[in-house]
Parts: sequence; structure tokens; C-alpha cells
Amino acid sequence: MNCLYCRLPIPKSSGWLDWYNSRPQWLCQECERQFEPIDGQYCFRCMKQSDVEVEICSDCEKWNGVVPHTLQRNYSLFRYNDFMKGFIAQWKYRGDYQLGEVLSPVFNNAFQHVFSRQFTVVIPVPVNNERKRRRKFNQAEQLALFTGARIWRGVDRISAEAQSKKTRHARMEAKIHFEVTEADVPTKAVIIDDLYTTGATVHALAAHLKQAGMREIASMTLIRV
Ligand SMILES: [Zn+2]
Ligand SMILES: [Zn+2]
Repeated sequence: MNCLYCRLPIPKSSGWLDWYNSRPQWLCQECERQFEPIDGQYCFRCMKQSDVEVEICSDCEKWNGVVPHTLQRNYSLFRYNDFMKGFIAQWKYRGDYQLGEVLSPVFNNAFQHVFSRQFTVVIPVPVNNERKRRRKFNQAEQLALFTGARIWRGVDRISAEAQSKKTRHARMEAKIHFEVTEADVPTKAVIIDDLYTTGATVHALAAHLKQAGMREIASMTLIRV
């Protein structure tokens, strides 16, 4: 068996991904150990890393002013280090669905620990159709499946803007539009996405959901940039 990321042969020994659910080994140990969990000091609300102890970071302060009391919190698993940038490029932009499957045990485990007592419904951030066609699949949808929770798909994206082409500032200011298409809006849910960068996407979706009647909204992403 070869590592799904670097393609080098994997010597017989087991790593944390196997330990979680006794599947065959997907990544070599060298790749596995480059997943860098968020620890040390970070914002309690959005998991942004910080050099000093903060209760709430400047990003969260800003969102508090724009959409107060909308998103309870964001939980993210990993840092956006160089390895992760390469991993995301292969998984997301080159459409390697199988590579994404290596995240299943660790993403499921985190959801169970952090959210499963309070939340039973998840909402993958929808992508517009043009982008879905280009990228073959929606990464948020794949991550949502890993949680094992009920997936609610009653919302569509109606903005065609390619967020990743913009600067950080432009992204924060951009209007992202969603449309709730189903009447049976759950009372609480966790929004699922791959990256939390400025939080613009997650907050825009949360605002739409709240307007549609949802009362408790949190988010979970693979990465906090
Ligand atoms: Zn490898
Ligand atoms: Zn924050």
C-alpha cells in the first residue's frame, strides 16, 4: 500500500488513523505527523491562534458588530501549514475525493466530542453549480458525511463570486448570498466547511439561517487559517 498523499510505500506499522477505526493505513507516518492540531493559545470563539491570551479576538469583535449573537462558536481541527496547503490543493482543487477520506475518523471524533451532545444536524456550506462542476465534488459535503449527523440541505448559494481569488480584506467585505429553500428549518445546526479564513462565508450563512428561524448555530471547519 502506498501513501495516498505522497505516494511512497508505507512500511508495516500503524498510525493514529488506523487506531481510530482499524482501517488499512492511508497515509505514511511522515505525512500523518504533519497534520498540526490547533493548540496553545487561541480565541475561544473562533480558534484563531494568538500570541497572547485573549477571550475574544479582533475578527470576532468585528463579526459581533456585523451580525451580533449569530454564530455561537467555530471549532477547527488543524492549522493551515505548508503541508496542509498541499493537501488541500490535491483534495479540493484537483478533486481527489479518496484523499479526503483519510479525514473521516479524526473529523468524526472531533464532532462527537465537541458538538454531538448539543447538535444532531449539520449543514455543509453549499457551493454554486459552476464551482461544483469545476471541482467535481463539494468538500464541505464530504466532511459533513464524516460527522454521522443528519445533513440538512435546505439552503442554496446564489452568489457566483469566486472567494478564493480575492484579498483577505475583500473577502471580509464581500456579500455572500444564500437562499433558504425548505420550510422545515431545524432549530439548531452546525455549519460545516473546509476552511475558516475570515469567517465571511460561515457568518453569511449563519445570518440567513437565523433569519429563517434557526435558534442555535455553530460551525466546524477542518482548518482555521
Ligand atoms: Zn506520505
Ligand atoms: Zn475569534
